[in-house]
Amino acid sequence: MSDRKDIKSLTLEEMTGDLKAAGFPAFRARQLYRWLHVRLTDDPEEMTDLPAKLKEFIRAHYEMTKLEVIDRQISKLDGTQKFLFGLPDGETIESVFMKYKFGNSVCVSSQVGCRMGCRFCASTLDGLKRNLLPGEILEEIYTIHRLTGEKISHIVVMGTGEPLDNYENLLKFLRMLTDENGQNLSMRNVTVSTCGIVPRIYDLAKENLSITLALSLHATTDEKRKKIMPIAERYTIAECMAACRTYFDKTGRRVTFEYSLIRDVNDSARDAEELAALARPLSAHINLIPVNPVKERNFEQPDLTAVQAFRAKLEKHGINVSIRRVLGRDIDGACGQLRHRHIETSGKNGPAGT
Ligand code: SAH
Repeated sequence: MSDRKDIKSLTLEEMTGDLKAAGFPAFRARQLYRWLHVRLTDDPEEMTDLPAKLKEFIRAHYEMTKLEVIDRQISKLDGTQKFLFGLPDGETIESVFMKYKFGNSVCVSSQVGCRMGCRFCASTLDGLKRNLLPGEILEEIYTIHRLTGEKISHIVVMGTGEPLDNYENLLKFLRMLTDENGQNLSMRNVTVSTCGIVPRIYDLAKENLSITLALSLHATTDEKRKKIMPIAERYTIAECMAACRTYFDKTGRRVTFEYSLIRDVNDSARDAEELAALARPLSAHINLIPVNPVKERNFEQPDLTAVQAFRAKLEKHGINVSIRRVLGRDIDGACGQLRHRHIETSGKNGPAGT
């Protein structure tokens, strides 16, 4: 990437500062911000109410992040769409578009690759390449909106990457996404999922945003969690629970625990009892995800009756449970597999020719 600033990563305030310093009045920044974040226009030529001098300034001083569509898979079963996007530096990321009764949702990636190393996850197989800029995360949503023509009301930061490992950019992304001068999405419609970087959960609680925090728990004892999630070596489950408590108390938002059910690893009746005991004091919602098999790993899903029994056990304790709908079953397997396969087959990280 060149050293020119990514224009879509500038908040309205920053853009106003830049333009003012160059002698443009503040209202020009609002106009420009609208073109970029409401009308989703990339080409300064199309920004008809901007003076030629400003268009010139934009071209000379900024980078205009665009995502190249490398692959697009559309599920015939439920309309889920998976996208593999190419970034300007040749890296690739995955995003998913999903239709729900309550609206359309996009699952965005927050990093190129991931360094958290969860044993069952395909996104981490090739390590972390770099953080995504706020404008690049926004552009995942904008590009999908342009391609599908569908309005997007919900965002889950659950694609490739650990969002709290890219904290500053994540926060800026959230602020810009919910800015009334931009997409004006409701914070309540945004979920951020973390493997449990405890100090960052406290930081996020201090921001007092009304987003939903999802903690990837996946095990009820530290010993077991360490076997599948390296982050458990750094922070104990008790520390994660205390951080979630603070998050709940500060924001009033109930946290979600994500729990990937893995056959013979974490799917016993005892696991369910222990999980209920962790969730109850926090009134946490539990999202069960039958593990998506990744070919490099040998984890298997429990059968459907075992999943139902696990759910019933939690519900008996009054826990609010959902089983993640398996969307797009016909188009791809686990998160991060599209990108991983692309890296394997192309022998490099980027789209051909870059
Ligand atoms: N780094 C963040 C967000 C990324 S993944 C986090 O750890 O929460 C979003 C969710 O999918 C996480 O709960 C993650 O543990 C889970 N996940 C990843 N790979 C999976 C797989 N193969 N099967 C089921 N769930 C998976």
